[in-house]
Amino acid sequence: MKVVLIGVGQAGGKLTQRLAEYDQQMGFGAVQGALAVNSAEADLRELDLDTVLVGQERVKGHGVGGDNELGAEVMQSDATEVMDALDGRITAQAEAIFVVAGLGGGTGSGGAPVLAHELNRVYEIPVYGLGVLPGRGEGAMYQANAGRSLKTLVREADATLLIDNDAWHTSGESMGEAFEKINQNIAQRVGLLFASGEAVEGVGESVVDSSEVINTLRSGGIATLGFASAEASEDAEENINTVTSTTRRALLSNLSLPNAIDADSGLLVVAGQPEAIPRKGVERARKWLEEETGSLQVRGGDFPLDSGRLASLILLGGVERSERIDEFLERAKEASKQTDEPKADPAEQFRNEKLDDLI
Ligand code: GDP
Repeated sequence: MKVVLIGVGQAGGKLTQRLAEYDQQMGFGAVQGALAVNSAEADLRELDLDTVLVGQERVKGHGVGGDNELGAEVMQSDATEVMDALDGRITAQAEAIFVVAGLGGGTGSGGAPVLAHELNRVYEIPVYGLGVLPGRGEGAMYQANAGRSLKTLVREADATLLIDNDAWHTSGESMGEAFEKINQNIAQRVGLLFASGEAVEGVGESVVDSSEVINTLRSGGIATLGFASAEASEDAEENINTVTSTTRRALLSNLSLPNAIDADSGLLVVAGQPEAIPRKGVERARKWLEEETGSLQVRGGDFPLDSGRLASLILLGGVERSERIDEFLERAKEASKQTDEPKADPAEQFRNEKLDDLI
């Protein structure tokens, strides 16, 4: 699927760069263009991408400091500039636009839904969100921002692929290490999804096509991606169990939104050497996915890849009724109450500070 990526905010910019780099390293040619938009000049300077600085008048290149309403405002006032920068990048070959952002911050959180709205007004191709949800351990401001942003992004984008920051890394890592790992996993897994349908070798009936990704996302709402891989045998017959077990692992322990398995639609892409992909295994895994997700629309296809491994990549559409989302929205609501609470009584605060001085 030929895509154009627009990263909004710090996380959005970093992820967009990682996705563009992965696509280039692998020689897929799925990423047709990439642009980073931010209100913080320093964050843009870190990136090796074309950039647009928004909100210069309001925040002078210093960012919106976690204020996502301001993030939305600056994107709205400078929307023309961003749309102008995109002009010519969204070519006739482009099949979808992805707006990439961390939903817990300020610029990406507020700006991504505004940009998705503008893009949808102008372009005929689908506009998807690729949003990062804050992990449980992140502060109240992040949760509250992400709650508001998610609702708006889901409304404005044609579908929103979510990555929970608590998924795709092992526990016990520092925040920096965890981000690094998650970003690497996003680049590879979302990168493979983009590349699905771009395969040139082994073109045949069973090869996945971009339209299957788009049709899986057609139900709108929230989408999740799962991935698992294993060493393959050269003999396809011997790989039947490999495909069924990587598919189980991808769904049950490697979803970008853990446990969000109740879906409207699904797509199973099996990547590997074409001769090593077992038809029987793929069909069995696809049937199993239909049962597990309760969806009658699980598509399937191969992704020919020169690798000694076999991988199952699962895209699920319409997972918004999952418990994981309810749990997150509840957390965001609680956090929102906390952040909306009136500030502590200044006199009380003063007394506390005095006490601190004494101790
Ligand atoms: P903005 O620049 O104001 O849009 O704010 P950020 O992009 O820094 O958004 C903060 C949110 O994004 C928080 O929930 C962070 O957990 C998340 N985040 C920031 N950097 C990264 C990153 O490199 N990787 C991932 N996965 N999440 C990040």
